[in-house]
Amino acid sequence: MTDRTLPEGLHRDTLAVRVALERSQHGENSEALYLTSGFVQADAETSARRFAGTEEGFTYSRTSNPTVASFEQRLAAMEGTEAAIAASSGMGAILMMCMGLLKAGDHVICSRSVFGSTLNLFAKEFAKFGVETSFVSQTDVAEWRAALRPTTKLLFAETPTNPLTEVCDIRALADLAHGVGALLAVDNCFCSPALQRPVEFGADLVIHSGTKYLDGQGRVMAGAICGPSRLIVDVFGPVVRTAGMVLSPFNAWVVLKGLETLNIRMQAQSANALAVARWLEAQPGVARVHYPGLPSHPQHELAMRQQSGLGGAVVSFDVCGADPEQAKANAFHVIDSTRVVSIATNLGDTKTIITHPGSTSHGRLTEAQRQAAGIGQSLIRLAVGLDHIDDIQADLLRGLSTLPT
Ligand SMILES: *Cc1c(COP(=O)(O)O)cnc(C)c1O
Repeated sequence: MTDRTLPEGLHRDTLAVRVALERSQHGENSEALYLTSGFVQADAETSARRFAGTEEGFTYSRTSNPTVASFEQRLAAMEGTEAAIAASSGMGAILMMCMGLLKAGDHVICSRSVFGSTLNLFAKEFAKFGVETSFVSQTDVAEWRAALRPTTKLLFAETPTNPLTEVCDIRALADLAHGVGALLAVDNCFCSPALQRPVEFGADLVIHSGTKYLDGQGRVMAGAICGPSRLIVDVFGPVVRTAGMVLSPFNAWVVLKGLETLNIRMQAQSANALAVARWLEAQPGVARVHYPGLPSHPQHELAMRQQSGLGGAVVSFDVCGADPEQAKANAFHVIDSTRVVSIATNLGDTKTIITHPGSTSHGRLTEAQRQAAGIGQSLIRLAVGLDHIDDIQADLLRGLSTLPT
């Protein structure tokens, strides 16, 4: 029989459609969906060896499953890490990471601008177990350095952030972490490995919400951690087996197939987003546009270095408004005047999605906290999909050209 193992040195595009467990005896071209909770064993001795871990083989899908393993191998190949481990959602992945790495008395440094549920997980849930977190500026490395302690075990960053697309310097944070023997984890949700591979800049762990661009069509919840085998296999593997934030094989299969088109979607959606961002900058009703692909973005050059020269697919913008009340009315007017884009909570979909962060994802903050985070009532987030650029612009113009101000 010819050797069908993949040769070395394949391009990432090829890995994205090829890396998976070997085919079954049926020779399916599209990877099989093994929707099963348990696996039949040849005999009691085989079963015993597999449970003891002295023989490879599947036993129970909380421990491992062939479809989930295919997703993990493919994502690791795309991120350029030794291994990956799947989780039930992006938050499940961050929980798994914290359970694996942290104990009472440990200290974490985290950007103040990370995803709201991530903030709560550190500030509320893990604080209960005696893990203390310092929240610092997304962009000022000196604040991260000043927060370091002998007990610091983890630096956690997300870049670009939601919804303001602020970019942090992955290399600088990795150097800080390694200087004190800590790890740097980067939430790579907004760029995906198609645009940004944080380990190339020194990050130790990469976090994914597979719910977003990896699936890419808004169908399933999924998450993953990518990193070295010594952490993925030896530290996080036992956590997921014990704690059970396991990815369903069905969801793994959907995301596995999503990875095959990730690169072309990210290229096309980033191009659409850049066109919308440039167009928004020229609209009289728009006060400010936040998009890493624009030269006006404060970390534009850093973003272009880290993100393969692309800005990603999320654009946020402030509409004009004399005071917070007027700004909110104007923002709602623009959102409610759309007929094509979806008013929904998600991003990373082929369908363009519009949201008002100040009354949704950041609605539970006080006005002062929102102001400190730079998320005013005038802010609109657009997660640009594959709708035609002319249709997206016409949809936004309907509201922008009729602002009640
Ligand atoms: C959505 C999101 C998460 C959480 O992922 P879920 O799959 O919704 O649990 C984490 N980080 C970022 C940046 C996100 O956008």
